Amino acid sequence: MSLDERAFFNERPETRKARHQCPRCKRTNEYSVRWVRRSKKDRLPGGADEQDRAKFAKLRDYLLRVEDELTCAECGKRFEIPSQQSLVFVDQMAGLPNDEELEREIQAASGEPAGVQEPEAAAKPAIPARFLRKSTGWK
Ligand SMILES: [Zn+2]
Repeated sequence: MSLDERAFFNERPETRKARHQCPRCKRTNEYSVRWVRRSKKDRLPGGADEQDRAKFAKLRDYLLRVEDELTCAECGKRFEIPSQQSLVFVDQMAGLPNDEELEREIQAASGEPAGVQEPEAAAKPAIPARFLRKSTGWK
């Protein structure tokens, strides 16, 4: 008999802050969302068979979202957290954009200047001073 996946993990509740937009009033706020962190155990639990051993080798630590709904801080309406964000592998978390980067992406997508200089732009050769002086010469 195969072991339940939970037998391979230690569970620990975790609260993570995340920004969510209410679908009704469109206002974005920071919410504390409850998760469970499942950390792979140091060793295979007793009673594991070959199949469990293979499964255990492939497992990674992950976070599972416990809450599906939030109550909007502005209008009080309950809304669902998008389901694609319900599981996060811990080793992927380093690659996830943080809130600030997300804000910049949102700004960039809406056509507003994000105020971030691209590294390529900085690497371009500077315009020689004589070309810049031209405009003042017309006065
Ligand atoms: Zn709302």
